[in-house]
Amino acid sequence: MNIILFGPPGAGKGTQAKHLVKKLNGFQISTGDILRDEIRKDTTIGKRIINDMNDGKFVSDEIVNNLIKDIIFNPKKKNRLIFDGYPRSLSQAKNLNFLLEKSEQKIDLVFFLNVNKETIIKRIKKRKIEEKRSDDDLDTFIKRFDKYMKTTKPVLDFYSKNINFHEIDGTLEIDQITKKIDIFINV
Ligand code: AMP
Repeated sequence: MNIILFGPPGAGKGTQAKHLVKKLNGFQISTGDILRDEIRKDTTIGKRIINDMNDGKFVSDEIVNNLIKDIIFNPKKKNRLIFDGYPRSLSQAKNLNFLLEKSEQKIDLVFFLNVNKETIIKRIKKRKIEEKRSDDDLDTFIKRFDKYMKTTKPVLDFYSKNINFHEIDGTLEIDQITKKIDIFINV
């Protein structure tokens, strides 16, 4: 089963992705984590993206699309992909469809964790204390949230027409969100 977790930063995608990884013996594909890793290792890509990431801007589709290609074609991960933070633009969504088709896979479920800005700001203040993520300072965060809402609307429209799309109230407690997701997993 391949799943997309969609929603603004701070909506709880990462937490639910980890739950799904356990439940489905899957692999979390967090483009945010992959990109932060490139920066930490100070790779060529890391050097190219550090400013945009710290500014709350999106990294270019070209870089992100390239980074996920190998993961999708990895036979060990086939049909066990849990996407967290990808796709984030229409071009990425189309690229994902293309790569899945080529590797004879499809998306089985899309969950949209819908959360308002106030709830997310409360959460991010908590996460900053607990996890110390460098891109989590509040100003950057608000930029990322606004940017996400503006630019991902076409992606939402792209997926929301499909019957496998499910909107979930992301302001609920973690356990309640997990329960709602589990209803659709059926394993
Ligand atoms: P996240 O951990 O998913 O909240 O992502 C953190 C940051 O990484 C974002 O603010 C973007 O700068 C960058 N990023 C993560 N995923 C993507 C993506 N699919 N496309 C472009 N930029 C991304």
